[in-house]
Amino acid sequence: MALLTGGCHCGALRYQLDAPLDDCAHCHCSDCRKTSGGIVTTWLTVPAHSFTWLTGAPACYQSSPSCTRHFCAQCGCLISLATGKAPEALDVTVASLDEPEQAPAHRHVWASSHLNWLYLDPQLPAEAQENGVN
Ligand SMILES: [Zn+2]
Ligand SMILES: [Zn+2]
Repeated sequence: MALLTGGCHCGALRYQLDAPLDDCAHCHCSDCRKTSGGIVTTWLTVPAHSFTWLTGAPACYQSSPSCTRHFCAQCGCLISLATGKAPEALDVTVASLDEPEQAPAHRHVWASSHLNWLYLDPQLPAEAQENGVN
């Protein structure tokens, strides 16, 4: 377990989580690309009850029938993702953590959508989609 804090660039959103850091994945799906503006989005999956907003309330965007993404309406930072397929869990962007060094990725997911010019941790296991979720 680790107590971690994070937030968006402008400071309107702050959060904390108190959770294990053992489920962390680089996602290569096109939904993450188009909603984050980044070529990969690294997610820490935590129990939903372990996550608390400390400051502000996020804007929400339903990116697929089952997925809702939470972001800062002021600066645009993507913070979290909830999926109806695993409602007890919440995905949190490692990039929004104050200490992202604490949450290294353990695997790649949606590797079938991986950009072929992106060289990233080839030693990590890669799942073509995401096992057990999609
Ligand atoms: Zn912000
Ligand atoms: Zn994704």
